[in-house]
Parts: sequence; C-alpha cells; structure tokens
Amino acid sequence: MTKKITIKEDWHIHTHFSGCSNDPEQNVQNICHIAGKSNLSAIGFADHLWQNPDKSTWPEYLAKNNHEIIAELREEIANANIPSDLQVFLGAEAEMTGFNQFSITKDFAETLDFVLMPHNHIHQNYIKKPAICTAENLINFLLDRFSICAKSGLATIMAHPMLPYGFMEFFAPGILNCSEQKMIDIYGLAAERNIFFELNSDYFSQAKSPEQHEAILKIINCAKCSGCRFTYGSDAHYPQAISAVYINEIAKTAEEAGLLQEDFANIGDIIKRKI
Ligand SMILES: [Zn+2]
Ligand SMILES: [Zn+2]
Repeated sequence: MTKKITIKEDWHIHTHFSGCSNDPEQNVQNICHIAGKSNLSAIGFADHLWQNPDKSTWPEYLAKNNHEIIAELREEIANANIPSDLQVFLGAEAEMTGFNQFSITKDFAETLDFVLMPHNHIHQNYIKKPAICTAENLINFLLDRFSICAKSGLATIMAHPMLPYGFMEFFAPGILNCSEQKMIDIYGLAAERNIFFELNSDYFSQAKSPEQHEAILKIINCAKCSGCRFTYGSDAHYPQAISAVYINEIAKTAEEAGLLQEDFANIGDIIKRKI
C-alpha cells in the first residue's frame, strides 16, 4: 500500500506587495488565518523582488518591487496575530532576466530565510526567447536556464520548474520527447547543491490534459532520480488560493509520481538560521 503524503508547508505565498497580486485582502493577517484553517504548520512569503542595485536589469513597470517591500513585510509580520502553531518565514521570489542576470544580490539573499528562483517566467517580455520557437527548442531553453539558476548561488528552491508560462502548447510534446537522462543531469545540478524542487499548484492548475499530467509526472520522477528533494508552493496571489484543494491535488500527484513523505524537505533543511 502506498504511504499517503501529507503536505504541511507552503513555501510560495505572494502578498499585496507583489505587483501581480495587489489584492489588499492578501495581507499577512488573512494569509495566516487561512493557512491555519488549511492545516498548514509553516508558510513562506515570497514576493517578487527586484533589489539588484543595477537597475538596468529591472523591467520598468516592476520597479516598485524593490527591497523596501521586505522591510515593510517584515513589519507587517511583526504586527500580525499569528496562530501559535504556525511558523512564518520571509523569503522572496527572485528573477533571472538574461542569462546570469539576477534581480537580487547574494548579500541581500542572505538576509532572507529562503530564495525561490524561477527560471521560466518566459511569458514576460523582458525574457528573450529562442529565435525559433519549437517544443524542443523551448524545453532546451528552459533546461539551460534551470542550470544557470541552479548554479547561481542564490537559490534555495527552484520555483515551478519547467512550466513554459505563456507557451503551454509546447509543454507536453517538449517534455514527453525530452531525454530522461538529460533532465536528470540538469536537475542533479540543483540536487547536488541542496536546492529544492518545487511542486507548484500550477502543476495541477496549468497542466490538466492527460498528456500534460504525464509530462508533470515525468518531470517529478526525473527530479527524484536526480536526488532532488521537494517543497510545495501554492504560488497564491489571493487568499482562496491557499487552498486544501490544491494541496491535496499536489499530494496525490506526488504519490502518483512515486514520491514518499521523506522526499519532502524539512523546515530545518530549508531554513539555515536557528529557529
Ligand atoms: Zn513565479
Ligand atoms: Zn510566484
């Protein structure tokens, strides 16, 4: 009998400080209240962050997502009434625009509890796509970007790995035709640096067709074979997205891909400071 996976931590929650949320209801107090009701024991705040003083790397319309939001969020957390059985951590979702061009610096990353590193916000126009867009090219492009992010020295968790945002029609054909060994080798770059592999709620909500689901299972399976360990992230931008429905769906998908409870990271593995 397969052992059931229980997910008790959500390491990817945006707040109203993220430009793409902007929902006043998505505040620390509400989030903590809902997380408690969803039986979570730990949550990690991960707003989009553009802190690198080299502002030429910033897309202009995101310029308000700078490091000041971290100080404001820290204050909001300090003033919130947090349930005693919920642990709250402060991280950020960084960005890689061009290859090796990151939205945060190493020094700043070290002031945070954790850093989510996305390699695949390719729906954003500030990321230059391959000249010829085919399923194969796009997946290879994502694998190249994954490898650079894993080697950046900035990442704690790889955010929503391999989803080609904005180009989902290429996802299933690209992944299902991709060499397993190639994926294992690239994901191994994260595993050998103790960087965790996120099971994002978009693995359920963005990949619903049978082929897309099969592609998700292949990704998770290759990540496990490469030695990666996993975290869960709702990527919530509004309160209802911190939902037990997504948590259960992702737990079911993880079980189907052959993961066990011990494949998930413990809080102490992620948060290096004393808690
Ligand atoms: Zn993201
Ligand atoms: Zn996010």
